[in-house]
Order: sequence, then structure tokens, then C-alpha cells
Amino acid sequence: MKVPICIFDAKTGVLCPKCESRLKNGELTKIDVECSIKLIKLSHKNQDIDKFTLISSQKIDEDYVLILKDSNVSHINANDNLINSFEKEFNGKVWFVEANSSIRRFLENLFFPTRILKTNMIWLPDGNPVTQVTIERKDYEKFFNTIEKIKKIVNVVRNMELVVKISGK
Ligand SMILES: [Zn+2]
Repeated sequence: MKVPICIFDAKTGVLCPKCESRLKNGELTKIDVECSIKLIKLSHKNQDIDKFTLISSQKIDEDYVLILKDSNVSHINANDNLINSFEKEFNGKVWFVEANSSIRRFLENLFFPTRILKTNMIWLPDGNPVTQVTIERKDYEKFFNTIEKIKKIVNVVRNMELVVKISGK
């Protein structure tokens, strides 16, 4: 497993001088440190987590977003036991994102288990591009609060505006 701080630091919960200075100069955030420590703890109980490479992390409202490299987030999202152990350890919702995945895949991972019917770019009257995702009405109504969170995550992680459209409207 790889995390943004030294494995030893993550195990002990104390940063070495090198990581401490990376934290001071903004290369690392407190959330990165917090998530690294939690991930190490979880990896002792679960071999799948031991294969993770955590690139960085974000805290958006009370939710955590973990940006992973070379992980298949669809497999993680489909593993209820894994998700449960994360939410227990993080004491809240944890979102998984693949570093460098395509926009389509990135959005599919966030919307899971909601099916995305279509992803396309649209241009606002002011000329700014936004990404538009089309889903079914029943999903829109059921996951309304989640969708609002996804919009924030997309904005923070990929610096993109997201519009969610209901199919057939
Ligand atoms: Zn260190």
C-alpha cells in the first residue's frame, strides 16, 4: 500500500521531519494525513486495501473523497463489506475516485449505483462549458441529496461544473 506520507508515519500517527515540512509547505494536507492513518488501520484487516495507492484526499462537508491510483473503483463500490468498514473507520460517507480516469468513468463511479444514460458537454450562455449527465427521473428523485454532493465533489476534484438532467425532459 502507498499513501501520501511514509508508511511508518501512518502507522505511528506521528510525522517525520520530511513529511512535516511537506505538510507545512502545502504539498500535503491534514486530510491526507488523517486519511493515510485511517487507511493503514483498515489495511491490517483487509487485504484488498493493502493494494491501494492513495494519491490524495479531500473532505467535502462531512464526506471524505479518496483519490486512488491503479484501483478499480467499480469493484470497491460493489464490495459492501469494504464500504462498510470504511464508513465505520471514517465515521461518514467515503467516496472513491480513480486518479486520471476519463470523465465518463469518474462520473459513473460517483453516481454508482445510479445508471448514467448519457454524458455530454453543454455550453452556458456565457460561453462556459459544463458537463451534463442524464439519468432517469426515479433516480433523480431518490438520490436528490446525493446528486447535490456529487456536484460539489466534481467541482473540487476535477474543477468542473456538473448539470444533472432528467431523461425525456
Ligand atoms: Zn514521513
